[in-house]
Amino acid sequence: MLKILIALLFFAQLTYTQTDQNLHNDYHYFIEKSLTKSEVKHFNIVPLINKLKNSKLFSVEKAGSSLQNRDIYLIKFGMGETKIFLWSQMHGDEATATKALFDIFNFFDSKNDNFKSLREELLDKISFYVIPMVNPDGAEINDRRNALGIDLNRDAVEPQSPESAILRNTFEQIKPDFGFNLHDQYPRYSVGKTKKTASLSFLAPSTGEPESTISQMNAIRLIGELFLSLNKFIPGHIAKYSDEYEPRAFGDNFQKWGSGTILIESGGWKNDNDKQFIRKLNFITLILAFESIARNRYKKFDLNTYTTIPFNERNHYDLIFRNLTLSTLGLTYKADLAINIYGNEIKNATIEEFGDLSTSFGLTEYDFDGYHLEKGNTIDLTEKSWNDIYKLNFYSLLSQGNTSFLIKDEIQKKKDIKIPQLLIRQNRKNTFEFYKTSPQLLIKKDDELHYIFVKGILYNIKSRIQLSF
Ligand SMILES: [Zn+2]
Repeated sequence: MLKILIALLFFAQLTYTQTDQNLHNDYHYFIEKSLTKSEVKHFNIVPLINKLKNSKLFSVEKAGSSLQNRDIYLIKFGMGETKIFLWSQMHGDEATATKALFDIFNFFDSKNDNFKSLREELLDKISFYVIPMVNPDGAEINDRRNALGIDLNRDAVEPQSPESAILRNTFEQIKPDFGFNLHDQYPRYSVGKTKKTASLSFLAPSTGEPESTISQMNAIRLIGELFLSLNKFIPGHIAKYSDEYEPRAFGDNFQKWGSGTILIESGGWKNDNDKQFIRKLNFITLILAFESIARNRYKKFDLNTYTTIPFNERNHYDLIFRNLTLSTLGLTYKADLAINIYGNEIKNATIEEFGDLSTSFGLTEYDFDGYHLEKGNTIDLTEKSWNDIYKLNFYSLLSQGNTSFLIKDEIQKKKDIKIPQLLIRQNRKNTFEFYKTSPQLLIKKDDELHYIFVKGILYNIKSRIQLSF
């Protein structure tokens, strides 16, 4: 009997959340197509904000100006009693949720019939307040901080920056029932100690007090629901952000001041460098949260679900080469090598860790058991012109273990060389930072060169296949 009851309850929870699957299927109707890059800057959103001004649904206000005089907007819509406040890009280089917010504006402004009744219900029961870009000056240079170099999320108590003051004042005017604090996190966090990337992390920030407030418990229940629901799209990829109390942060203070505050951190997803999939998950998460709030559904969810969500941990790397043999200082030994790759168009690699990495995971891993690791060689080409350099047989040079080439500072590259290699300007050759961030590796078996690793590319010398990460 008990089993049947549990099954029924489980089924009831599942049927509650059909909306998520429908949103997943129909997302393409709502995606804001002008926002495609991972970075979002103020000039990208201005035309979209102007479009909102022309719609009867939205009221657009200037909430204030950034230090460099960019407008910070507050967008309002809906006429319900429950007030929800959402803000994004408080850290200028964290734009995933900003894109999702514009997808959400499209959702509410859409004529798509599949969601007509949900849209009407949400607009009837909720008043929405959105600041889509709190830190436009940071966004301009893709930087976390504002033009003063201040991290706005440590400036909540006595705001010194105009942007923090705007966020704080807006909050105090609204006194929202729920607040959504939208960020991007380090994309290589793992869910606990597992192999799975933390693609989304949630937190109901602490108030610094031992007892949870009612609004914090609301946030905790809602996160429990979102966790159970989102897990079906990204099983095992949801974590909890560090719950240590941060007295200077907005989320912690808003929680303390009586809003059920939910932090959502967009993490990483393999082969989703521009985070378009994570953006879609943000869209689904937020609309599902609105539906739950409008229907008071979150109240039925258990407080304990939240406590079962594993914390973010830091044991993932982009690439791990395992079981390499090295000979250094007269000793031959085995080690794993962890590498992260940065940059989209021009890639760069950094060696992050070295030794026994059996407790860590790579998004991509290679087992090089039986292979020997050596450093690539550098050839001096500072006497040569670009034309001479371009005519060189790079494949042959590479096959002999030459991975980098020293060139004159003033040389102008006219074309890309098709084979992976590293051209080093003379003036940078001795900087330690340069070598640390540009590993050039030769991977050999029985003294024969099999692979080259340079500029984030693993090149198979025999098959001439390039693998980038
Ligand atoms: Zn952030």
